[in-house]
Amino acid sequence: MNNPVRVRFAPSPTGPLHIGGVRTALYNYLFAKKSGGSLILRIEDTDQTRFVPGAGEYITEALQWCGIAFDEGVENGGPYGPYRQSERKDLYKPYAEQLIRQGHAYVAFDTAEELEALRKAEANFQVDASTRMRMKNSLTLGAAGTEALLAAGTPYVIRILIPAGEQIVMQDLIRGEVSVQTDILDDKVLFKSDGMPTYHLANVVDDHLMHISHVIRGEEWLPSAPLHVLLYRYLGWEDSMPRFAHLPLLLRPDGNGKLSKRDGDRLGFPVFPLKWKDPHTGETSSGYREAGFLPQAFVNFLALLGWNPGTEQELFSMEDLVNAFTLDRVQKAGARFDYEKAKWFNQQYLKDLPPAVLAGSLAAQTGSGRLPSNEVFLEKACDLVRERITFLTDLPEATAYFFEDPASYDSDMLKKRWKDETPGLIAGFSALLEEADFTDPEILEGIFKQYVETNRINSGAVLAPLRMLLTGRAGGPGVFQIMSLIGKETTLRRLNPAHYLPIIPDPLVGNITDRPPS
Ligand code: GLU
Repeated sequence: MNNPVRVRFAPSPTGPLHIGGVRTALYNYLFAKKSGGSLILRIEDTDQTRFVPGAGEYITEALQWCGIAFDEGVENGGPYGPYRQSERKDLYKPYAEQLIRQGHAYVAFDTAEELEALRKAEANFQVDASTRMRMKNSLTLGAAGTEALLAAGTPYVIRILIPAGEQIVMQDLIRGEVSVQTDILDDKVLFKSDGMPTYHLANVVDDHLMHISHVIRGEEWLPSAPLHVLLYRYLGWEDSMPRFAHLPLLLRPDGNGKLSKRDGDRLGFPVFPLKWKDPHTGETSSGYREAGFLPQAFVNFLALLGWNPGTEQELFSMEDLVNAFTLDRVQKAGARFDYEKAKWFNQQYLKDLPPAVLAGSLAAQTGSGRLPSNEVFLEKACDLVRERITFLTDLPEATAYFFEDPASYDSDMLKKRWKDETPGLIAGFSALLEEADFTDPEILEGIFKQYVETNRINSGAVLAPLRMLLTGRAGGPGVFQIMSLIGKETTLRRLNPAHYLPIIPDPLVGNITDRPPS
């Protein structure tokens, strides 16, 4: 009875893949890898009214970006293909017909308008044991009446006949025992008038034919699970029915409700892995990739939204996740989304990136010709700022002063630290740099220390303005490291009053009486 693990990710191409969907794919991937099983990508596109062009491609690209690879599926094929349900169209109907023959399903002729009128007229109307016998279907029309309508080409659907008064008990690997009274279920449509199966029928048939061992999917599908159990039972597949695991919802940061696709950018952060442009409305939604997230940080962050390793460890490579992941550590309660935490993860991964990757990203963002071609220089500049940035997209701004003289100075810094004596102090230090060796920041620091000690100067009184003149900013990497990298010529130019005085706003310059000795 030790069947191989075969799991599937089965998105519908109805729009961009929400991060909750990415997490579902990720957990399936981790579970498959951990157990030496296979992961299948199946596209569930039987609802043609909801099909959105480009959504299928988006799903594949997003999962590729995350490093979630499939063993079988729409891209790479496999023994149980095709893996796109619209291409399997013809194989579903015989199962619906089998259910009719066995008395577990029936043909229904009620039109959409008739059903709509009933829904309006009766509160909580649904097609079930209490209503089906007063509707237009094969149960009320009899064989001859049904045949006549079918022969006349009357549109019809096939509905499951939900039994009355039964209790359906199922085991969920995350939720434990789930038990549902059939009396609350409705006679769901299994096969539609357009000749396509619905999600419920296609999903169960395909999971069976593709030998799926575990169905790991979002909690929003839990209410459908009893119906699926009935289908497995009626189709005679209960013995090989997959095991179910329904994953907790992703909640908005305030814990108030599900983080939905519609939340888009309204909450101030992306809810999609990649940027998406709606082909109908032209509306664009931001993505984690374009926001500057590294896929490994995004994956690490998502993995911990609903699962924890039971230890304090937070940083996990994909390989670590595979080793640590178990379904029994997936929580039942909804997982609150925390964008600040997502950024923290990105920072952690930026710290580990090779300098060449940072430099490559900087060059790609800045465009050719606007940066020096000296790669070592670029790498060093990126290396110096990496601890202080959250995103790769912060690089151009964070490194700007390595490539261009600052055009303005931090105004708070100016107000606080620029004193009448500052130009003199800067000039004194600057003079000592004329003959200095700039290759080693420690040598420069040594010169500085000696300067402030011999002249009994408070080091902050020189260091803060020095930083400001060199970078324009109040904070950043070590001043001597910056000096060493930009070199003597640039340093001395930026420290020269002829260069910096025109940049300092008039009221401040006006205060300076004590001009530096030139
Ligand atoms: N096509 C369904 C979806 O879009 C799949 C649900 C399932 O995994 O059973 O989420």
